[in-house]
Amino acid sequence: MSIADQIKHFHSIVPQDVEIVAVSKFHPASAILEAYDAGQRAFGESRVQEFIEKEKALPKDIRWHFIGHLQTNKVKPIIGKTSLIESVDSSRLLELINKESERAGVVTNVLLQVHVAQEEAKFGFFPQELRDYLDSGRYKDLKSVKICGIMGMATNTDDECRIITDFKLLHDIFIEIKGNESYDLPDFKRLSMGMSGDWPLAVKEGANIVRIGSAIFGQRT
Ligand SMILES: *Cc1c(COP(=O)(O)O)cnc(C)c1O
Repeated sequence: MSIADQIKHFHSIVPQDVEIVAVSKFHPASAILEAYDAGQRAFGESRVQEFIEKEKALPKDIRWHFIGHLQTNKVKPIIGKTSLIESVDSSRLLELINKESERAGVVTNVLLQVHVAQEEAKFGFFPQELRDYLDSGRYKDLKSVKICGIMGMATNTDDECRIITDFKLLHDIFIEIKGNESYDLPDFKRLSMGMSGDWPLAVKEGANIVRIGSAIFGQRT
């Protein structure tokens, strides 16, 4: 199937209330334009330099989701260019995004990344670490970031039970935070989980953003 056909296919099978982010990292601008012409508007990038170049060259109504690990020294160039930074994996990074957003006169939408997978290599707050941070209330002073929900990844495995367990855990944490009025997070509505290989399970467990790369664009080289 062509990229355009994949876009149409995914929009026909993913429920309407779930946002599809087409993960275009490592793929050229021409591939993004093909998806764009088929109606896709939300794209995911994971590297700062690549994102900056694509953002400059491509249509302004694209909603860019930054989904990669963000080093603190690379925050500034992406501020004002993203629709959602999904991969905020530390309080330090959140505070820095706030500071740079304030300087730029913008409010940046973010998701907090939660680490539930059985792999050390992944980033994110551990569930208890996230609870402790939210309990501290420190984020309430950050007026130039809007915390819109959480993002997570399941363990990279063929074991469906493991994947479902990971997604259920992410969903439980999402519901717990959303339901805690003392956190005072009115925009906390988004649960981003699921990729090409596991998105149907993620949607079943309550995801309202899925991040699909290789199933749309083919293998990354
Ligand atoms: C690369 C990436 C994806 C997309 O992965 P595919 O398996 O190609 O769909 C989704 N989320 C994150 C955080 C990624 O880095």
